[in-house]
Amino acid sequence: MGKTVNVVEVFSSIQGEGQYVGYRQIFVRLVGCNLECEFCDTPDSRQGMASGQIEITPGKRDFKIISNPIPISQLAAYINQLLILPHHSVSLTGGEPLCQTQAIEELAPLIHGMIHLETNGTLPTELAKVLPYIDMISMDIKLPSTSGQELWQKHEEFLRLANTRRVFVKIVVTNKTSTEEFQQAIELIATVNPEIPLIIQPVTPINHCGGVSPDQVLVWQEQALTLLTDVRVIPQTHKFMGQL
Ligand code: SF4
Repeated sequence: MGKTVNVVEVFSSIQGEGQYVGYRQIFVRLVGCNLECEFCDTPDSRQGMASGQIEITPGKRDFKIISNPIPISQLAAYINQLLILPHHSVSLTGGEPLCQTQAIEELAPLIHGMIHLETNGTLPTELAKVLPYIDMISMDIKLPSTSGQELWQKHEEFLRLANTRRVFVKIVVTNKTSTEEFQQAIELIATVNPEIPLIIQPVTPINHCGGVSPDQVLVWQEQALTLLTDVRVIPQTHKFMGQL
């Protein structure tokens, strides 16, 4: 048996967040995460899982249960089989996919499609290893009010590397977001490259994270537009479309 990887699920669906919202993608949700965000909506991905599920026909939800870990060559074959339907790209997500960097290094070259990395933006050393295989990066900046820690230095290091690819930044705002931490985040992006697109994502209320008022969303966007050229507000659209 070759190298292996731990998988939560693989399926074809509509991207619901960020710059590529609406595109058809294959989602490859890997096990593991290095953070514990208050608004996390994929808590299962953070722990090890004995089994995962893989969709066999794109969009038909005919999942096959697999035992973890799965050989990387086998996972690539499942993904390429789903690519029988033309997709925009294959989204590596989690959890935090860079927790399995070595697996990505081996998986990505086997996939017959563009690779979109969805990441919390805190593991720059790991990003450097896989960067040659990544076409697009969706990078979160995690604000201290929800991550419980200051991650500015890691985020800046990460964004400087990611800026060598197609990258956009996503910031989830909640009723706990402060003006000061939001300002620090947009200054960080502007320092690296003010033309990097920023997606402000009002949180879908979960756990103790409450939503943001419509007026406050306008204020966040206006604040960001003082330093950045491309600032959009996009909520989690897959939730109200009833998609996975
Ligand atoms: S980085 Fe993502 S997967 Fe990890 S805890 Fe935060 S929201 Fe959840």
